[in-house]
Amino acid sequence: MGRTVLVTGASRGIGQDTARLFADRGCKVAINYNSSEEAAAGLYSELQTAGCRAMLVQADVSNEEQVQKMLQLVNEKLGDIDILVNNAGIAKQQLFTDISAEEWDRYFQVNVKSMFLCTRGVLPAMIRKQAGKIINISSIWGITGASCEVLYSSTKAAVIGMTKSLAKELGPSNIQVNCVAPGVIATAMNSGLSQADLEDLKDQTPLGVIGKSRDIAETVYFLASGKADFITGQVISPNGGFLI
Ligand code: NAP
Repeated sequence: MGRTVLVTGASRGIGQDTARLFADRGCKVAINYNSSEEAAAGLYSELQTAGCRAMLVQADVSNEEQVQKMLQLVNEKLGDIDILVNNAGIAKQQLFTDISAEEWDRYFQVNVKSMFLCTRGVLPAMIRKQAGKIINISSIWGITGASCEVLYSSTKAAVIGMTKSLAKELGPSNIQVNCVAPGVIATAMNSGLSQADLEDLKDQTPLGVIGKSRDIAETVYFLASGKADFITGQVISPNGGFLI
């Protein structure tokens, strides 16, 4: 039986396609969701019909208690987690001066603290086994910064700092920690963009297309595979050449 993977925020978008890809390729997949129960259940039943081993687990990954419960349920049903994909995230465009202190905290809780909580929870088993892969989803905006997305960009930059530091700390335990920093991907997260905005983003992209969730899933899968055993602490950015 394949390795066990937990994908946070797997009800939609990049997380959904990542969970699907790992399941297609023989992994046991825990599908985490927070509020999109119907979408998550749809993916679960699709994977079951295809004969894959999967489970559904609801949790707000910014909540310590809920994360602990989620990890316990996954361990009981699918065994130790071999691969953690910290994907869940939220985004919003707004002027810096419009950001409230509560929003600032909430974004850091969902986009960064969640990764700390999930990673801390899976590490004892990974360290015991001297093996494990942790893949954190950042963004090109965490590398280059985005106007009117200062809060989002700040959280995604923090994810990169966490990835690099943790890779150094966990290298001696043979645990690889890497970051995927996608460019613009066609998901609900970008549903607020107008057709004109999307055309403009395409024009700025050397490959001339908006990315698909599957493009990111393939990158995550590669980093989780044995082909990436010598890669740690890196930021890989599938972005069509948007950021070079
Ligand atoms: P999406 O379609 O909006 O999906 C976001 C996912 O995160 C949903 O499954 C959602 O679950 C989950 N989520 C949000 N808050 C959560 C919480 N507190 N607890 C558990 N799950 C939570 O977004 P996406 O485009 O697939 O984005 C996935 C990741 O890629 C994010 O980290 C995002 O920042 C990053 N990213 C996206 C793009 C892009 O262009 N789309 C570019 C760069 C980076 P529920 O719906 O069940 O609440």
